[in-house]
Amino acid sequence: MDKQTEFLNKKILVLGAGVSGISVANILQQLGAHVTLSDAKSVDKMDKDFSQLAANGVVLALGNQTELLLDGIDYIVLSPGISIYVSLVAAAKRRGIPVMSEVEVAYRLSSAPIIAITGTNGKTTTTTLIGEILKTTGRQVAVGGNIGAALSEQALEVDADGFVVAEISSFQLEGATKFRPHIAAVLNLTPDHLDRHHTMAVYQEMKERIFANQDKNDYLILNYDDVSVRGMAERALGKTMYFSRRQQLDQGIFEHNGTIILKWEEKLIDICTINDIQIKGGHNVENALAACAVGYFAGASPEDMAKVLKTFQGVEHRIEPVAEIAGVGYYNDSKATNPESTIKALEAFPGHIILIAGGRDKNTDLTEFMQLAKERVDHLIVLGEAQQRFTEAATQHGVKNIHNVTSFTEAVTLARSLAQPPQVVLLSPACASYDMFDNYEERGNVFKDLVRRLG
Ligand code: ADP
Repeated sequence: MDKQTEFLNKKILVLGAGVSGISVANILQQLGAHVTLSDAKSVDKMDKDFSQLAANGVVLALGNQTELLLDGIDYIVLSPGISIYVSLVAAAKRRGIPVMSEVEVAYRLSSAPIIAITGTNGKTTTTTLIGEILKTTGRQVAVGGNIGAALSEQALEVDADGFVVAEISSFQLEGATKFRPHIAAVLNLTPDHLDRHHTMAVYQEMKERIFANQDKNDYLILNYDDVSVRGMAERALGKTMYFSRRQQLDQGIFEHNGTIILKWEEKLIDICTINDIQIKGGHNVENALAACAVGYFAGASPEDMAKVLKTFQGVEHRIEPVAEIAGVGYYNDSKATNPESTIKALEAFPGHIILIAGGRDKNTDLTEFMQLAKERVDHLIVLGEAQQRFTEAATQHGVKNIHNVTSFTEAVTLARSLAQPPQVVLLSPACASYDMFDNYEERGNVFKDLVRRLG
């Protein structure tokens, strides 16, 4: 079947009027489907402009959702925000209406092979890095999924000899049925999103859907150092390449004596040294290894991969270098919204850190975070709703020089007055941002503005 006629004249109900829901509704309508876009929120609760949708002929059904919406529907398309467990989806399944996620639609529309990256952490960084590596092949590349524009929109823009590089969350895999990436990578798997998937087994099963439809001509990149990810090779249908930061492998890509080495079939390739990698921290070495494995199978040259690793500065708000003032480096890691992420950032520096932390507390255990802070943090500046709990935990674990402040301006000014080389100033809050900001991006931008005004 011609990919783009699959939805012609079909009656499609898109659930969830977020960015990807709106995009996929527009696209399907333009491809000749009859689309209704439904969201449980009423129009006055949404700060969105639906005029383009209405002009394209998409029917809007906002507010109370009833089973009447299902009458005559051929397909249901889910935005990532809508769980397969909502009652309307269950009712659709009972009626035998096929349910698919937005990335499934993207897959069905794409002429280009899809490269799909999943994992609990590191998806955005690795997907973005792969995008940069693949651009060196001279082929057309679109990067999407959880990042930027909806994947279905990107998929239509790339011709058959390009690549669609997709960051895929477990939510998007809930509604994947035929989705078959030519190259897939699973970076790691730790407990997350269990409010939605309920058990770790279901979460893992969702992640494994990323390779469930692959065949022997496809590739699967797996983290050898993560036991549950390593075991996925037993169920892989394509060729598996492992990456490892901790072990030399017979076949795969790994770090050895400070160098990244790729061994595959008869080939043995030195890509570059670990020190060449610009993005900081051991976790980013893992992301770089996974990205090079993908790059290799997609036809990027080792020289070009090395060039990209030597220049790629990472994604905004993830240990992002902001400025150097009086010999002190300032870093914005506002994306660190939990202690695990802040631990990764602390591990990325040898010590002498002036850490700005705090925000909306997630009430998670702080032991490991504060043990590491004791080793590596010279001054801890704490603010936000978590201030008291963080201060108490830091004191209990022997963290030195704890300062309480009430605003970001105060935090940055204090950090500037304390900092001497070789110290670095790091914003890595270990908390959500919602007590003071709309989101972590706004928090990071405010921090960067304040730092740049110091210079
Ligand atoms: P995601 O898109 O999966 O949220 P990001 O690339 O945005 O991942 O990184 C988010 C945070 O996750 C980073 O700030 C870092 O703390 C942590 N992280 C990134 N890569 C890894 C990795 N490979 N392993 C563990 N943690 C990681």
